[in-house]
Amino acid sequence: MPEKPHQNLAIIGHVDHGKSTLVGRLLYETGSVPEHIIEQHKEEAEEKGKGGFEFAYVMDNLAEERERGVTIDIAHQEFQTDEYYFTIVDTPGHRDFVKNMITGASQADNAVLVVAADDGVAPQTQEHVFLARTLGINELIVGVNKMDRVDYEESRYREVVTEVEDLLNQVRFATEDASFIPISALEGDNVVERSGNMEWYDGELVLEALNGLEEPEPPTDAPLRLPIQDVYTISGIGTVPVGRVETGLLNTGDNVSFQPSDVGGEVKTIEMHHEEVPRAEPGDNVGFNVRGIGKDDIHRGDVCGPADDPPSVAETFTAQIVVMQHPSVITDGYTPVFHAHTAQVACTIESIDQKIDASSGEVEEENPDFIQSGDAAVITVRPQKPLSIEPSSEIPELGSFAVRDMGQTIAAGRVLEVNG
Ligand code: GDP
Repeated sequence: MPEKPHQNLAIIGHVDHGKSTLVGRLLYETGSVPEHIIEQHKEEAEEKGKGGFEFAYVMDNLAEERERGVTIDIAHQEFQTDEYYFTIVDTPGHRDFVKNMITGASQADNAVLVVAADDGVAPQTQEHVFLARTLGINELIVGVNKMDRVDYEESRYREVVTEVEDLLNQVRFATEDASFIPISALEGDNVVERSGNMEWYDGELVLEALNGLEEPEPPTDAPLRLPIQDVYTISGIGTVPVGRVETGLLNTGDNVSFQPSDVGGEVKTIEMHHEEVPRAEPGDNVGFNVRGIGKDDIHRGDVCGPADDPPSVAETFTAQIVVMQHPSVITDGYTPVFHAHTAQVACTIESIDQKIDASSGEVEEENPDFIQSGDAAVITVRPQKPLSIEPSSEIPELGSFAVRDMGQTIAAGRVLEVNG
């Protein structure tokens, strides 16, 4: 892959507002759909006497990917612009969209919010914007989509922009970090090419806005954090934990510590793509071997870090959460499963400390009796087994979690403070 900075991009917005169509348009117009696939499709289309259905083909392909997304955890879509190499961190419509947005292997740096001009702000628009804000999305590109459906009218565009600005103000997302663009993903207006249908608009195109995003900070300066996904025994080498470096660097010869298992040693070898490497950086998936560590000493859900700056283990922690969908109410003592990096641990909500007003961010109620869907709150949590987790202000990659119960994601949050 070319030497361009990487951006993880989330495409968010209400169902049917045009997220997949926009992704398809971006992949197609940035030339990210391989030529042979387009050729093959052209032949098929000609045989059927159709012709000129290349974009429709991308859409079909995306639909298939989406179906496969039921079994694949995160189906990546990738494209590049002049400035960046983009990975779309989740396929729109994926059933675990929200969970992946929070705990996904790749956390989104920025997001494109798609709002259909005919509908305006809808329930999932609100939910996703709130999440984006909670999870620390830096910049938001707002595509006011389906402009063709409203006769490309500026007055309707302005109305929708005002609705979205109100929403951003409500969740205290700085509106100066948002840019607005009237588009039609289906017709291709103002995505990569300037539209002839909206002469009243002379601002950025979606592609230009993507190029103009700020470059994400490389997390190499932070201490090593490497959540363990699996532990293997490989003959001739020994115990090999595998995982993805989230922050920092892993070097052979480093002294490392695994938490909460609380064992450690010196890194002997690091392997990536079946080759030995001297060092691994953020984003690398590695297997490595540590002197003196046996298979039963460490576990999935452990986090590997430097011996002199080990990952913190939480006796209790405070967190800010957003309740997305819970059939009844959440009270003190509730014990769902928390998913944080590679760990899944039952945790008791020991106390609901504050209910936060989503519209102002201010404390609405101290020690409320319960919280329910749509509420934001600060809670104190006690893991039922040792759990390594970090304040999201220090290591964002290890500071967010999803709360699951009854087979669905009921809340999402980030860690404010860890009490060891
Ligand atoms: P998603 O659920 O947000 O991913 O939405 P889709 O991309 O699947 O789009 C939902 C429907 O809206 C599909 O029938 C699309 O063809 C249609 N659609 C998407 N973008 C546009 C647009 O710009 N204009 C019009 N007229 N229809 C669109």
